[in-house]
Amino acid sequence: MSSKPKPSSTKKHIAPDSSPFWETTALGDMSEAQWESLCDGCGKCCLNKFIDDDEGDLQPTAEIKQNEQVHFTNIVCDLLNTKSCSCSQYERRTEFVPDCIKLTKDNLDDIFFMPNSCSYRRLHEGRGLPSWHPLLNRNKKTAMHQAGMSVRGKTVYEAMVDMTEFEDYIALWPLADLD
Ligand code: SF4
Ligand code: SF4
Repeated sequence: MSSKPKPSSTKKHIAPDSSPFWETTALGDMSEAQWESLCDGCGKCCLNKFIDDDEGDLQPTAEIKQNEQVHFTNIVCDLLNTKSCSCSQYERRTEFVPDCIKLTKDNLDDIFFMPNSCSYRRLHEGRGLPSWHPLLNRNKKTAMHQAGMSVRGKTVYEAMVDMTEFEDYIALWPLADLD
């Protein structure tokens, strides 16, 4: 006796998308909580930066033109806790440091100020998050510090520096990125 062949199922079992939000959501579409959680807390954006213009002059600036280059220094804002690499006055920071610029969805044009390793810049440029990012390390900064990607142990406070001699403090390490 022959048995009837079972009809094949046309249903497909699709696994729920387990991709992390930063791989599925554009920066501009992220919630406030998602946006905030992307920050690795490296502290590099709290370093003093200058623009090298066409004439070779180094000037503080709020914009960058073609052929100009951002130079980082190891001079850090006096409000940064250089051990945790977190702002010691985050909620009131603009009261104390009026030119503290926080990157938001509305000022992504300012992203050129951010170091190559900045999470927002990486995602903006389609480079994803690196393996040392806190979001991939149980929200701990340890891997980032160990990879040398934060400012810990590399800075000097503004208050300790004669800012007319900032060229002596230009540093290459903030430009480094891993992964
Ligand atoms: S450089 Fe970018 S990722 Fe690092 S602390 Fe600043 S905003 Fe956050
Ligand atoms: S005020 Fe805080 S967030 Fe702003 S540059 Fe200084 S340490 Fe960084």
